[in-house]
Amino acid sequence: MKYIGAHVSTANGVSEAPLRAAEIGAKSFALFTGNPSRWKVKPISDKEAEAFKANCAANGYDASVILPHDSFLINLGSPDAEKLAKSRELFIDEMKRCERLGLTMLNFHPGSHLNQMPIDECLDLIAESINIALNETNGVKAVIESTAGQGSNLGHTFEQIARIIDHVDDKSRVGVCVDTCHSFTAGYDMATVEGYNRTWDDFERIIGFKYLNGMHLNDSKREHGSHIDRHEQIGDGYLGKEFFTRLMQDSRFDNIPLILETPDDSKWADEIAWLYSQTND
Ligand SMILES: [Zn+2]
Ligand SMILES: [Zn+2]
Repeated sequence: MKYIGAHVSTANGVSEAPLRAAEIGAKSFALFTGNPSRWKVKPISDKEAEAFKANCAANGYDASVILPHDSFLINLGSPDAEKLAKSRELFIDEMKRCERLGLTMLNFHPGSHLNQMPIDECLDLIAESINIALNETNGVKAVIESTAGQGSNLGHTFEQIARIIDHVDDKSRVGVCVDTCHSFTAGYDMATVEGYNRTWDDFERIIGFKYLNGMHLNDSKREHGSHIDRHEQIGDGYLGKEFFTRLMQDSRFDNIPLILETPDDSKWADEIAWLYSQTND
């Protein structure tokens, strides 16, 4: 069974998210649990947390199909001690907000070395940040997102993600979310049949499907290997419709949230309907 959804709005509070998801026929969703561009985030009130849980239950959304995304400001591998401390603090706050909402996963971008630190050292620092956050919280899994490798962003190779996982103490609380646009422009040419098969064989060998907890479904405005992060509507980019059909028919992507982050949200209902029409469900 495929759980296709989108990253929905919380402009009027987190409790709105499951309602927005239901409106577009989503069976999963992503959300920000706080303002993603602020260092100080307003706590979620009891009333809002209860309304969120009630709206999820009423619309059939279990925690396993909800993939919150963390703040844009966080860099868990920051070479700057002060920024690193602030990032860790905000990341723990993100995890606690998930706990409060009864959620079990938090999706985040691993971090950036800002050309001030060797790659492996930065990856190990990210793992240390995850260990600290997991020790301070309960029941929420840290879900590492694959990146395009723009600038000095890490997590663009499966080997980098595997190294982070390797250094996390509690393997039961770490997972991976592959963003199709990011990994494609990072160099995984999934658009061809051969490239698709090679990419997922590599994923299984280097990371393992047991760690795959979600996907971001985005087509790409930019070509394979460009390392540029520009999402495109499904079927309109370099990945193309055939790629998404292949993915929808692949049972390795069953039972995890598959989240659209395509730029035009007015097309999400149609994109979800089309993706479902390509599944065997
Ligand atoms: Zn992301
Ligand atoms: Zn992106």
